Amino acid sequence: ADIMARGLPKRKKIDGVKHILLVASGKGGVGKSTTAVNIAVSLKNEDPSKQVGLLDADVFGPSIPLMMNLDDSPLLTKENLMVPLQNYGVKCMSMGFLVNKDSPVIWRGLMVMQALDRLLRQVSWDPVDYLVIDTPPGTGDTHLSLIQNVPISGALLVTTPQTAALQVTQRGANMFKKLDIPVLGIIQNMTSVECPKCQNEVRLHSKAANLLLENLGVPVLADIPLDNDISQGSDNGIPVVVASQESPQAKSYKAVAQKI
Ligand code: ADP
Repeated sequence: ADIMARGLPKRKKIDGVKHILLVASGKGGVGKSTTAVNIAVSLKNEDPSKQVGLLDADVFGPSIPLMMNLDDSPLLTKENLMVPLQNYGVKCMSMGFLVNKDSPVIWRGLMVMQALDRLLRQVSWDPVDYLVIDTPPGTGDTHLSLIQNVPISGALLVTTPQTAALQVTQRGANMFKKLDIPVLGIIQNMTSVECPKCQNEVRLHSKAANLLLENLGVPVLADIPLDNDISQGSDNGIPVVVASQESPQAKSYKAVAQKI
């Protein structure tokens, strides 16, 4: 922790950005980007007078362009800042806007950090009340770099309800705690599935996983089912909170946004 905390005092605000919220997960594929997108859009819908930004910090596997249905290249201001692309009232920035969709990004850590710094600071965010940052899976370079360089108001952890995912979620929670970043809560994703024939709900929890979750000591803000509307929403670039506003799924995301 001491090594990780070194350099913390140099945290520098991003011009025009009030609060930064990290969305993190231990593993990939648990629904972190889907959550980040739906929370960001819900934050905007909850209070349209607030400005919301969404930064895709996953330089190797950007998902925000697809999920927010954006694929232009950002324009530059007179000051040479990139203008975020906007959809559903949310200002977005992603590595995916800057490179060809099919080109692999084959970079070493340092280059990733430089790119991340640009995506954060060379963007005309001003003004943004909440900047939601979709981080890559795990607890690596990107998280440390963000925590060391910018003031973070809080982190949301996304996990599926299995022991394998919850064990790594524990590591993530511990990292944030050690570095004094408030963990606002956990979003459990894909916790149940509804049988299309009999409408019975199949819960995907196990006792061991439930115990791990209890021991984490972090509040669970939402249990989101495995649901075709959510997956279609991400694939079609129309988040479920926009496509089916009155669905229980959309309401779960809204409830999380209200707690932030
Ligand atoms: P991560 O950011 O953790 O890698 P994603 O948000 O990209 O995960 O989600 C992985 C895949 O699972 C995506 O195709 C997404 O549409 C789908 N998905 C995420 N959450 C759900 C859910 N609750 N129900 C159905 N599909 C989901």
